[in-house]
Amino acid sequence: GSGIRRTRTRSTCCYCGVGCGVVIEAEHGPAGSRIVGVEGDPDHPANFGRLCSKGHRLAETARSDAGRALQPELRHQRHEARRAVDWGIALDTVAHRLSTIIAEHGRDSVGFYLSGQLLTEDYYVFNKLAKGLVGTANVDTNSRLCMSSAVSAYKLALGADGPPTCYEDLELAKTVLFAGSNAAHAHPVLFRRLEAARECDPSVRWIVVDPRRTDTAAMADLHLAVQPGTDVALFNGMLHHLIWEDRIDRSFIATHTAGFDALKDVLRDYAPRTAAEICGIPVADLVEAAEWFGRSPASLSLYCMGLNQSVHGTDKNLALIHLHLATGQIGRPGAGPFSLTGQPNAMGGREVGGLATMLAAHRDITNDGDRAELERLWGLPSGRLPSKPGLPAVAMFDALRDGRLKAVWIACTNPVHSLPDNARVRDALARAEFVVVQDAFVDTDTVPFADVLLPAASWGEKDGTVTNSERRISRVRAAVPPPGQARTDLWIACEVARRMEARLGVAGQPALFNLAGPAAVYDEHVKLTVGRDLDIGGLDHARLDADGPQQWPFPAGATTGASRRYGDGRFETADGRARFHPTPWRPPAEPTNAQYPLRLLTGRLRDQWHGMSRTGRLPELFAHSPRPALRMCPADAARRGLSGGMLVQVESRRGRLVLPLELSDEVSSGTVFAAMHWSGQHLSSGGINVVCQPAVDARSQQPELKHAAVRVQPA
Ligand code: SF4
Repeated sequence: GSGIRRTRTRSTCCYCGVGCGVVIEAEHGPAGSRIVGVEGDPDHPANFGRLCSKGHRLAETARSDAGRALQPELRHQRHEARRAVDWGIALDTVAHRLSTIIAEHGRDSVGFYLSGQLLTEDYYVFNKLAKGLVGTANVDTNSRLCMSSAVSAYKLALGADGPPTCYEDLELAKTVLFAGSNAAHAHPVLFRRLEAARECDPSVRWIVVDPRRTDTAAMADLHLAVQPGTDVALFNGMLHHLIWEDRIDRSFIATHTAGFDALKDVLRDYAPRTAAEICGIPVADLVEAAEWFGRSPASLSLYCMGLNQSVHGTDKNLALIHLHLATGQIGRPGAGPFSLTGQPNAMGGREVGGLATMLAAHRDITNDGDRAELERLWGLPSGRLPSKPGLPAVAMFDALRDGRLKAVWIACTNPVHSLPDNARVRDALARAEFVVVQDAFVDTDTVPFADVLLPAASWGEKDGTVTNSERRISRVRAAVPPPGQARTDLWIACEVARRMEARLGVAGQPALFNLAGPAAVYDEHVKLTVGRDLDIGGLDHARLDADGPQQWPFPAGATTGASRRYGDGRFETADGRARFHPTPWRPPAEPTNAQYPLRLLTGRLRDQWHGMSRTGRLPELFAHSPRPALRMCPADAARRGLSGGMLVQVESRRGRLVLPLELSDEVSSGTVFAAMHWSGQHLSSGGINVVCQPAVDARSQQPELKHAAVRVQPA
């Protein structure tokens, strides 16, 4: 009678890589549609109905109109204010400006900077547009800041980009090694599963490797509070001990791996005493960790940004994977190296090739055969695809700054906040000829640089798929239409792509973007995966809708996906053997000195997500950590004459910001900590990345966001 209709829509949480299933309740009436409730999906195998504090508040955050971009906007000159335009003009302008710049300066003069928040289908179209139509590999994403070290190590060691483990292993592991992961805050629902497993079996032991005494570390059976950046020395020392004690699996090493002898030569230098000294921990603790790991019936490592966001991120990941390979702790229930994905869809983005260093379906950009195959599948003329990697995140903005890159299209991310050394990023965008920003929110630090603002749909308003940390593909569904003029990322990308195709396309070539919505895009992606490590030939939208979320690989004819990989000891390398790589320990990029004597660590807060575009609008989510702060141990503060609550200036070689000081035993002497979430929206001096440094890992190109030399003084 009221004319109100209620719907219940299954979807996936938009925040972290746990990928919890949710049910969205919405009301639709004469005044429009709105999300009225979100609850955990009891049937989703990631969370079985559980949600964390961020997930619990999804209804309120999704319902809020605050800060939403509602109308396309455009300016012709930098000094002008943008004015509202209709979609036709906005799309034509983007297509025209990008095509003109390409015609004048070549195909590598434009770049696309995307996001691990985008859905797989969105990513697919952007990637096809950049590599297939424009012919540039300059398409990278904020996943570069998140998972790229894990990816490069998985590929080097195991031959493919994908964790060998699954969430069931959380319940089956007998020794759990957390490294650089505060899972209690960053992956809360997985952490609850681990807690429940330890309650059921008190013999389960947790080792936490973290310079900070995080909430995760506080619950460990053994906390190794290593000096920042010494993880490789620790893992090398642990393996040295296990070799010495003959606790390694010689038969596994001989049958399924290569390169162990070369690694052993390196490990000679890491006797437990030496390694423990580098790490600044008692040698007995290092030995105990090695024993627990090596003797356990099932050892599982869970690791995250503490390993990845480092100039030696690939080595840190490799050294940990070595422990698993050398002890045969892989490919079995409860055992294996398990990288926890930061973002909801960093994995799905890589599956469609959404990084500057890869092609669709885990194909290699430098491999002639892979390129030729993809050109055939996409109906492209031979030689169309780029044969060299494009510009990865940090380098992309450097190229914009020095004029090699003229234009950038930023979608669903806020690089002025999230990239290290924010001043450089601001400078890059100010110097760019043309900047497109596609976002659901108008008040991010990046939007002021936009020449064209394209208003995007947000979570609860768009359709597609995401892949979580355990290779599980879940559906994301729209429960309500986007507000105002906002449109889905997929629609926007396809509309611009078709317009650019009319200008740049090759005569006689089949249309590349005749893609009628997410299901059609997903089907095209599925075809490209057939015969590859991530083969999902048997997993269409209909199957996902009928049977729920599934893990890859899921080839045609399969009735279920693979929960674990490498159970038969065959890896994805050419000869089927996993590889050890020499991993000498090297210190972080920026040493401390008399001028900058403190090590700055960064990390997440329990109730906030990234730049707070969504979580930052809800007072309830500030209850746990109400304000930005720099955490310092009381002794270091006393030495400097600083007291809790006082405003301090934290300064590096690149920049400075002012924060209230919070005294905390969580950090040890010589180390300070700041959360990464607070941005220019909350702090006039910008977020903590103002002081972070842009040095990158040579193999993964991931920047060292977790370590910078700083000084702290009264503001
Ligand atoms: Fe969302 Fe992650 Fe929380 Fe699950 S654990 S509800 S995916 S933020």
